[in-house]
Amino acid sequence: MLGAGVIGGNIPSLAHGEDGSPQPTMIIDLNRCTGCQSCVVACKSYNKTATGQFNTRIIQGEQSSPLARATFVPVQCNQCSAPPCIPVCPNDATFKLGNGIVVTDWDLCTASGECIRACPYDARASDPNYQDRVDKCDFCLDRIEQGMAPACVEACSAGARLFGDRARPDGEFADYLRHSPLAVRNPEQETGPTLLYVPLS
Ligand code: SF4
Ligand code: SF4
Repeated sequence: MLGAGVIGGNIPSLAHGEDGSPQPTMIIDLNRCTGCQSCVVACKSYNKTATGQFNTRIIQGEQSSPLARATFVPVQCNQCSAPPCIPVCPNDATFKLGNGIVVTDWDLCTASGECIRACPYDARASDPNYQDRVDKCDFCLDRIEQGMAPACVEACSAGARLFGDRARPDGEFADYLRHSPLAVRNPEQETGPTLLYVPLS
């Protein structure tokens, strides 16, 4: 059973990290997500997004069969392998780091908004507090460079968000990679999302 109609397909092979460099990767287990919004609050608090803007959010749905239940799908930037947000930027302000994380350099961003319109996942937003420069999830890059987990992962007491190095997986993250039926959002967009989901069972 897929989650809220937005998850499907098989995971793509990753286009980065094949030289053995780290591949920071997030897995979200929809069977564990309770929709508590702690991750949303933690992200907002840590990244200080503008009023009404969220770098991660929860899509709530419902399922009638085989069980009637509410469904929750946390969504954010998918750190795509082939991101349509990158080639449309007239200033090369958005680009992919060697570890696969897609970032926006605010020193180069002129707030033209092409990347917002190009992203099929509605994962980007302009920040009116910073001359409408464009913001998005970057896996809390400053945190992971210090060996910490992204704020949303740390805040999830349900253990629905797992984070690790796909090039050198260990612990529960490795168990998920090896044994879970992983999928991605809207694979028909052919953007090669690297944010992975465990669909509802
Ligand atoms: S904190 Fe965890 S359980 Fe709560 S909404 Fe986020 S992913 Fe789901
Ligand atoms: S989800 Fe959107 S913003 Fe993130 S890399 Fe893909 S196209 Fe770019």
